[in-house]
Amino acid sequence: MIKGIVIIGAGTMGNGIAHTFAQSNFKVDLIDVSQVSLDKAMKTISNNLERMVTKEKISELEKINTLNNITTSTSIKNTSKNTDLVIEAATENLDLKLKIFKELDDYYTENTLLASNTSSISITQIASATNRPHKVIGMHFMNPVPLMKLVEVIKGYETNLATLNLITEIAKLINKEPVEVNDYPGFIANRILLPMINEAIESLHHGVSSVKNIDDIMKLGMGHPMGPLQLADFIGLDVCLSILNVMYKGFKSPKYVASPLLVNMVQAGKLGIKSKEGFYDYSNNKKAEVVSKQFQ
Ligand code: NAD
Repeated sequence: MIKGIVIIGAGTMGNGIAHTFAQSNFKVDLIDVSQVSLDKAMKTISNNLERMVTKEKISELEKINTLNNITTSTSIKNTSKNTDLVIEAATENLDLKLKIFKELDDYYTENTLLASNTSSISITQIASATNRPHKVIGMHFMNPVPLMKLVEVIKGYETNLATLNLITEIAKLINKEPVEVNDYPGFIANRILLPMINEAIESLHHGVSSVKNIDDIMKLGMGHPMGPLQLADFIGLDVCLSILNVMYKGFKSPKYVASPLLVNMVQAGKLGIKSKEGFYDYSNNKKAEVVSKQFQ
C-alpha cells in the first residue's frame, strides 16, 4: 500500500492536505515554487497541531511525528520518480495546471497516480496534458482540510476503475469520506453551493434583507454552521466568481450568471477574509457587518 505522497502547492489547501496525510503516517514531500509559501505552510501546520495538543486531541509525540513526516522542497526533482501518488494543489489557473501535469507526467514513472484538488477545472482537460489520462483523477478536499470529512473524488472521462478504487481506499486511510462524482463543471459540491451563495448575494443586491439577516436565516432555519455570505468571505469572493464563471461557460445557462454585486466587490478588491473585507469587516480581527454604501 502507498506510504509516501507528493503534494504540489503549499498554500491554504496544500498545507492542510500535507498535515492530514502526515498525521495518518504517510511520508509527505511538500513542493512549492515559493520558499516563503513552504515556510508559511510548515508554520501553519505546526500551529494547527499545537492547537490540537492544547485541546488534548493529539499527544505532543503525535505532533512531532506528524511534522517529521513532512519534507519540503522547491523542486519535484528532489522527490522519488517512483512516488505512488502526486496531489496537485497549486494556484487555480488552467494554463498553470496543464503545465504542471505535463511536468509531472514527464518526471514520474508510468505507475504514479496524478490527482488534482482543483475546485472547478475539468479533470478530463487536465488529464489531456498527460500520457496517462486513465491515471489522472480529482481529489477535491474541503477547507479546512484537517477538519472536513469530505473528499469529492472526480472521475475524468478516461479515469479507470483501478485509479478510482485506489484513491477511494487512500481517502479512507486518512479518515476522510470519499464520494464519487463525474467530471462536469462545478462537480457536485460547488454546483450546488455556488448558486446558493450567488442567490444570497442577489438577495442582498435587491435589498431583500441585510447581510446579518440573510446569514441568520440560513443558520437558524437550515442548520447551516455558517451563513452563505460569511461562507463566501471564507472561500474568497474572487474564487466564488471564478467558479460561477466556469459553470456559466460550461453549461451556457443563465442560472450561473454571477451577481453584479459579486463582480463589483471583486473588482473593488473586496475578496473576503483574505483582503480583510468582504460582506464582513475583518480588520483588527473584528467580524462586524460591513455597512455597504450602496446596499444597506
Ligand atoms: P493558494 O493560493 O493558497 O496556494 C497555491 C500555492 O500554489 C501557492 O503557495 C503557490 O506558490 C503555489 N504554486 C503556484 N505555482 C506552482 C507551481 N508551478 N508548482 C508548485 N506550487 C505552485 O491556493 P489554495 O486556496 O490552496 O488552492 C489550491 C487549489 O485548491 C486550487 O486548485 C483551488 O481551486 C483548490 N481548492 C481551494 C479551496 C479553498 O477553499 N481555498 C477548496 C477546495 C479546492
